Amino acid sequence: MQTVRGRLAPSPTGYLHLGNAWAFFLAWLAVRVQGGELVLRIEDIDQQRSRTSYIKAIVEDLQWLGLDWDFGLGAAGSLDGECGAGYCAQSLRSHLYVQAMAQLEQRGLLYQCFCSRNELRNIAAAPHIDDIGVPYPGTCRQLTSAQREIFLAQGRRPSIRLRCPEGNISFIDAVQGSRCVTLADCGGDFVVQRSDGVVAYQLAVSVDDGHMGVTQVLRGRDILSSTPRQIALLQLLGYDLPEYAHVPLLLDAAGQRLAKRHKSLSLRALRQSGAQARDVIGLLGYLAGINPRGQAATPGELMPHFSLTLLPRKDIRLTTKLLRAHDLSG
Ligand code: GLU
Repeated sequence: MQTVRGRLAPSPTGYLHLGNAWAFFLAWLAVRVQGGELVLRIEDIDQQRSRTSYIKAIVEDLQWLGLDWDFGLGAAGSLDGECGAGYCAQSLRSHLYVQAMAQLEQRGLLYQCFCSRNELRNIAAAPHIDDIGVPYPGTCRQLTSAQREIFLAQGRRPSIRLRCPEGNISFIDAVQGSRCVTLADCGGDFVVQRSDGVVAYQLAVSVDDGHMGVTQVLRGRDILSSTPRQIALLQLLGYDLPEYAHVPLLLDAAGQRLAKRHKSLSLRALRQSGAQARDVIGLLGYLAGINPRGQAATPGELMPHFSLTLLPRKDIRLTTKLLRAHDLSG
């Protein structure tokens, strides 16, 4: 049987918070309970927003929690025999993205788009689709080369979009159930390279998951709406599809999704205020349905009890009472 391979894919744009710890802990459990392998992939494709200091902090925080991985920074393993640990950072994988873009280009699947954000934002009454934003109306799909030359001569820098294939994308999400959508439902032709030349998240993640041989993607349900796009790219690039599991999110007491602005719920802040990693894992295990009494624990102690079927289906509010019950103050 094929070895399960999962990934932890943090973006080093801030310190890890409890919501990140939740998703990474579950990704770790889902892989380790099947005796599988994990890659720590640093998603630093956006060099403007990424900081080396955050990479260091993320590695420290994951190690503090007691999570481990087989490939990537701080691990001995090398993927595909070609890479050292650092190679698992997106900033060092540009050649793979360039190759993938060339493959798509050769098949006539890419086109330049000169629409500015403002122009797209102003499209009358277009409803937003989750985190995807306004659907793309296909304005630049049929530009002639003469029209493109005019835009280029005006100094406009194009982004590159994928000419989305028609047809349904179907998949079974291990937590959210079966899905069947078209890419048009997901916003239509999407950007694979930004106008500043940076490869878009969708392309980088798809190439990485495919090239790294990832067989299991477990992440927050906020990314579910990106999955059909990633499946399309994986298919177009000839990679096998991983299994997907999109887990509920942790919310603050007011019902807002935890984010980097929740500084007091960063692992750093919790640790500085005296929290123990075992308390954090105890709470996360409790929320995952595998630590009913909520005692302090290590990831390894809870791992044998893990099953995705025990996970709640709805997002979870972290109330002060809940945090205090686990000796954590947010
Ligand atoms: N790097 C992304 C994040 O930190 C996660 C992407 C993914 O899991 O596909 O939100």
